Amino acid sequence: MQDDWSLNPNVRKLLQRVPLPISLPTPLRRGAGRTRANELTGTRAVLTHLRDGLDLALAQAMQAAGAAVTIVDPAGETTLTGRLVDGGGQLVPATADLPGGVLNAIAQSGATGDRRPLTLIHRVTRPHGDDLAVNEATDGLLAVGHAAAHLPPNSRLLLVLGPDLRKDNLGALMIAATHGFARSAFKEMGKNGGTCHVIRAEDAQAAAELATFLAGPRSAFVSGLDLVAQKSLAGDATAVPTLDGKVILVTGAARGIGAAIAERLALEGAHVWINDIAQAQAAAADTVAQIRARGGHADFVAADVGTLSGAQAIADAIGKDAGRVDGVIHNAGITRDRTLKKMSVAHWRQVLQVNFGAMHLVQTALSPILSDGASMVLMSSVMGISGNFGQTNYSASKSAVIELAKQWACEGHARGLRANAIAPGFILTEMTAQMPVINREMAKQLTAMLQPGLPLDVAELACFLVGAQSRGVTGQVLRCDGGMAFGA
Ligand code: NAP
Repeated sequence: MQDDWSLNPNVRKLLQRVPLPISLPTPLRRGAGRTRANELTGTRAVLTHLRDGLDLALAQAMQAAGAAVTIVDPAGETTLTGRLVDGGGQLVPATADLPGGVLNAIAQSGATGDRRPLTLIHRVTRPHGDDLAVNEATDGLLAVGHAAAHLPPNSRLLLVLGPDLRKDNLGALMIAATHGFARSAFKEMGKNGGTCHVIRAEDAQAAAELATFLAGPRSAFVSGLDLVAQKSLAGDATAVPTLDGKVILVTGAARGIGAAIAERLALEGAHVWINDIAQAQAAAADTVAQIRARGGHADFVAADVGTLSGAQAIADAIGKDAGRVDGVIHNAGITRDRTLKKMSVAHWRQVLQVNFGAMHLVQTALSPILSDGASMVLMSSVMGISGNFGQTNYSASKSAVIELAKQWACEGHARGLRANAIAPGFILTEMTAQMPVINREMAKQLTAMLQPGLPLDVAELACFLVGAQSRGVTGQVLRCDGGMAFGA
């Protein structure tokens, strides 16, 4: 699938020469190939605080992933700062809570004109004292926001909310102010290919792992997330998140997003089971052949996931071959758009059954062979959050998917099972290629990044969610929409 016209280098050159009021999007810096331990090499990370274990975990994770780390905290804890500087980090003491302070510190820490993407990590602080003199803490938001507005293309702003903020009303006010700030800030950063997220850090290690992914090129089209990083349910941290030897099912994977996910998982070392309906056999065979040609492992199982017999056929095929399944990407989905006036019972039921009911059928059939610690990814849509004219059936199904992910996360907790929903926005696939040009252009304008996403963007997110790097993320919704809205 080709990039959007607005990212075509020749078209861009031409448009830059003519004085038309057209806003061109920034090309996104995406990841390529297999995930490496040093994904952040060639980038910088700047932290506005280094005072406790959470700050240190964030800084060390950035450093371990290859970023050049700078701390701007003048009141930083000296032992922690020392450990970081020993590891190659840099300290630029500056008054980080004054507008201009962070930006000055960033300027001091690098060479003039340094255009490397930068991840600015701000640990939101609680106001001092017992009154509502919140200026010092809220000024910190302005300082990082001001700096974020001047960062090079494809930079990141990560706002971290520590457990200390949950202790009292003043902390709760800062949490609310941070969310409001982020809701607007990510929109301003998008045009420059930048992203902004809020991490609610319940566990330092989980927050650090999540921050590393959000700082990297594989989350290029993901912005405006509001995620909890909780104590991980299972597994140990690994330097390189690998899926070597994992058995993973992707439904509806003959083409589009599903095929991209299957290819990405196989590249990471997984044995991928590609499912689709029998009529999609030729496309599925192509996807399998491409994976095998690159040395990956893939098999096809033809089945309609919306039927009991189809779900059982998938479980039988995987059970017979591997005896277990370590991850499931419930991706198969259809649209049958009609206004309510014209919505037939058949179209209503078909969409609900394939997009939502099928997940329950497949999951139930797989449950005897589901490994402890398995991760499930459920494909929702931003339409399940915001709704859309003429898509009541689709929106109902995709909202139900979000609730299902939450329920599975609760039910599977004791076995270390995780479940999360992805809500893609406007992604270039055969499905969206059929949209009228005007609708496509309007969809782009709804994103902060002014561009559509690629199937690879959703694939990167699915790969992250099924792997160990997301151990502390479960029961949540992750948008992949170029910044259409904040949170879920
Ligand atoms: P797609 O190109 O239409 O691919 C969906 C695949 O699922 C197709 O290969 C389709 O088979 C298959 N499928 C349909 N019904 C099935 C069934 N009963 N059993 C097994 N497989 C079945 O769609 P996509 O754009 O890649 O979308 C993938 C997922 O992302 C869907 O859940 C979709 O709702 C969601 N999503 C997509 C976008 C976007 O912008 N593209 C945005 C938000 C959410 P056929 O070849 O027969 O159709």
